[in-house]
Amino acid sequence: MTKKTTVLSFAIMFFIGVAAAGQTPAKGLKVFISVDMEGICGVINWDETSQGGPDYGMFRTLMTQEANAAIAGALAAGATEILVRDAHDSGRNILPEMLHPQARLLRDWTSGPLSMMEGVDKTFDAAIFIGYHARASTPDAVLKHTMTTRLLDVVINGKKMPEAGINGLIAGYFGVPVVLVSGDQAIARQAKELFGDVETVVVKEAISTAAIMFHPSKARDMIREKTTAALKRLKDFKPLKFNPPYILDVAFADEALAQKATWIPGAVRKDEHTVSFTTNDFMDMLKLFRLSRQ
Ligand SMILES: [Zn+2]
Repeated sequence: MTKKTTVLSFAIMFFIGVAAAGQTPAKGLKVFISVDMEGICGVINWDETSQGGPDYGMFRTLMTQEANAAIAGALAAGATEILVRDAHDSGRNILPEMLHPQARLLRDWTSGPLSMMEGVDKTFDAAIFIGYHARASTPDAVLKHTMTTRLLDVVINGKKMPEAGINGLIAGYFGVPVVLVSGDQAIARQAKELFGDVETVVVKEAISTAAIMFHPSKARDMIREKTTAALKRLKDFKPLKFNPPYILDVAFADEALAQKATWIPGAVRKDEHTVSFTTNDFMDMLKLFRLSRQ
């Protein structure tokens, strides 16, 4: 080996080293997927979302397949870690054996304040809501409600909140943006009002208490494609945050439940249906919301 080739070798090695240092592999995305059932394509009746309903088995299969569509879309966009939160009713609807093997599944409830967002933390890059539905008291919306059918409305800092809003604030508390919401046209509209330019997938069009459905396989194609599209423009999304103090108004359909909620220290009765709570602590607000519904 001559001196000249040695110098050349060092030069080549130096450039290879610099190039390698500049190509540190991009960190894979970590994605949180909260899956409810009322907004799954095909679902129109409580019978279909309740254990014991004659067709519940079929609809929980469709729910699992929509979760899989979002997982496939996320993987195509570079996700390497995916947590699916079964967020409907018993928390035991998604069929574990049918779920995409590259996702992990969180089942059942802990009674913790994160509820439908249990499992989310600041290590996630994005949150996705599949099978979601409009808030209580929304016209032309499939199985509309907010956490329970006993509530008429949930308002935080003057904004009427669907579950997607409350859960979006929870994601936002951890610095995680919501990038996609699927369900009917009513929750898609409410998601845009809350999150701005969020991706939405309208899998059915509600007309009063009925709905026009896409074929479930078409809905899954849209969810997969839009999930990939959303995650590829992740930098466009901002976490949803409200400034403290947090003023939570919970309106109960039954006046007796409103009366009971006033037993909670700090609760203020606003009118026949509504009880109000004010706190500077976001987690305390979630706990108060939880307690008010006991
Ligand atoms: Zn549900």
